[in-house]
Amino acid sequence: MSDFLKLADLDLSGKRVLIREDYNVPVKHGRVEDDTRIRASLPTLQTILEEGARIILFSHLGRPKEGVYDEAFSLAPVAERLSELLGRKVPLIKDWLEGVDLENHDIVLCENVRFEKGEKANDDELARRMARLCHIYVNDAFATAHRAQASTHGVAKYAPVSCAGPLLIAELKALSAIMRKPERPLLAIVGGAKVSGKLNVLESLLGKVDQLIVGGGIANTFLKAAGLNIGNSLYEAELVDMAGQLMKRARKKGAEIPLPSDVACAKTFDENAKANIKKIDDIEDDDQILDVGPETAAHYAEIIGQAKTIVWNGPLGVFEFEQFSQGTRKLAEAIARSDAYSVAGGGDTLAAISKFDVTEGISYISTGGGAFLEFLEGKKLPAVQILEEAARAWSAMERAREF
Ligand code: AMP
Repeated sequence: MSDFLKLADLDLSGKRVLIREDYNVPVKHGRVEDDTRIRASLPTLQTILEEGARIILFSHLGRPKEGVYDEAFSLAPVAERLSELLGRKVPLIKDWLEGVDLENHDIVLCENVRFEKGEKANDDELARRMARLCHIYVNDAFATAHRAQASTHGVAKYAPVSCAGPLLIAELKALSAIMRKPERPLLAIVGGAKVSGKLNVLESLLGKVDQLIVGGGIANTFLKAAGLNIGNSLYEAELVDMAGQLMKRARKKGAEIPLPSDVACAKTFDENAKANIKKIDDIEDDDQILDVGPETAAHYAEIIGQAKTIVWNGPLGVFEFEQFSQGTRKLAEAIARSDAYSVAGGGDTLAAISKFDVTEGISYISTGGGAFLEFLEGKKLPAVQILEEAARAWSAMERAREF
């Protein structure tokens, strides 16, 4: 990870440090419901303040309409929670683009960066104005690192110094370790609704893993490709051929993608639908496959037991409905039980981990959804790339200065 500048490389005293955080937290009735992300940032904030710097915090919250202030997406609840946790007032600044007044040891939070026109489009002028606020820009928001936006990308081009924050570095370290030199067998589990959303991930993982398990609506498309009747289940007709090719590729490398031998299905898709456990060959035309069955779950648990490294994204079924949550529950529990180094990421996966109370058993839980998937695809995350470029430019300047 020597590709970035880090806070520890820099003299912070008296500096204005602009940190792009990920404070995109759940808010209900004006209060932060889950402050995990805010807590995670505290040690860094405290260290920077102790070093006599001034901190300006950036974050987005939700998806507001650009150019319009909307109280529903205000970071006010975050400022309040942050103040409580730090034991000092963290003012929320609305018109921060005009400049922010700060003394040494001060800390402020700027209102939602997504209220600013040009944030999403990575507008150059907005990025320059953001950069003018600081001496040092720090990106510590892995979950938005796959987006080139003004506060995650453009600003890093124009800030005098741009570096990676500790949370971002920790994520990249954990994820690169498993993708570069995993202890084998390496098992990937990719579930969720659609193949189309995860096709690149599936293709890229297939080249790296020793075993791949697919789940959810994704598995339905694979079942269809294997010539099985999936009744009225969710699947993507245009991706059946592709699924067939992926299965062939896997078979060729001796890592056949296992398909469910039994499933939980229903006649309707709703919370109260009755779940029927059926053998995969017994599916009727009006059946919807909504989870794997117990035999399949046990088989997957066995595969999990043999893996030394596990990457997990996406549920095996409609885990939000109790009667179709068993497959994902058993999967989560098997991962938690295993001695393998396990990494999980993605919004639904995190929800499942929390629902089934297996947080302790997962070695590393990524905060990224889209960023986690793009990392697994082997893509360079734009916000990371720009920090690497900034570090190269900085060290060239340092060398010139020494010369
Ligand atoms: P994704 O966002 O692609 O990770 O998909 C997660 C969603 O897929 C969850 O909301 C699940 O309820 C849904 N899902 C999982 N399995 C199925 C299935 N067999 N049929 C329909 N939806 C599913």
